[in-house]
Amino acid sequence: MPGIKKNDKCMGQFETYRQDGKTYMLDCGGTNIYGQSQLCPNCENNAQEVEAHRRRLANAEADNAWLRSAGWGEM
Ligand SMILES: [Zn+2]
Repeated sequence: MPGIKKNDKCMGQFETYRQDGKTYMLDCGGTNIYGQSQLCPNCENNAQEVEAHRRRLANAEADNAWLRSAGWGEM
């Protein structure tokens, strides 16, 4: 079901594999068994979505780095 978006975020789901080889549904941008966020096939083939997702991750990283440097990570 392509094109389902909410707040400019893709609401797509796709089937992926677990460690035990069984499949399950993962949200677009969700974390897979390798600890990496994975886009749905629709977004993965969309350069704009890939770039937007990369930027979201970079922003989250920057936030975490700022919290750590400010000492808030210990709270
Ligand atoms: Zn998607």
